[in-house]
Amino acid sequence: MKTFITVLIALLLAPVASARLDPGAPVPRDARIAAAEFVAGHPVSITCEPLDRMPPAVLAFVFLDDSYVIHLGPYACEALKDPTSPIFGAGLLVLAHEAEHLAGLVNESAANCAAIRDVEFLAQRFWRVENQNVQGSAQRLYGMTPDNYRQCG
Ligand SMILES: [Zn+2]
Repeated sequence: MKTFITVLIALLLAPVASARLDPGAPVPRDARIAAAEFVAGHPVSITCEPLDRMPPAVLAFVFLDDSYVIHLGPYACEALKDPTSPIFGAGLLVLAHEAEHLAGLVNESAANCAAIRDVEFLAQRFWRVENQNVQGSAQRLYGMTPDNYRQCG
């Protein structure tokens, strides 16, 4: 039986000022996969799920088996398409959270606390984005997560 791990987050997010793409450095072919694999420590794949396949208020999920698939909902998938998007950082938090699960952090707070610390580094390394708005966007979503997602030690 698969264990179902979810990100239970409200979909209410106000945009923040847009991030800026640093020109000159190539963006990896699929930076999402590169970033998720960096966090997880092993190969992963990513699928973008239609809204009707997502449980209510869930932004993404993984199964704790050997499939190593990150299932992103439409919001996170859209947010990650464009690093200049005002919700890019929130999408990156979701991606990092699920990748932390695949790295072995089963506990929601452990995954979320690690993920919020990953965001800035991942944005810089895999998207060449260095802008505090990315972290700001991630922090906004982080602040909306349930209490049991924010018990950082
Ligand atoms: Zn989770």
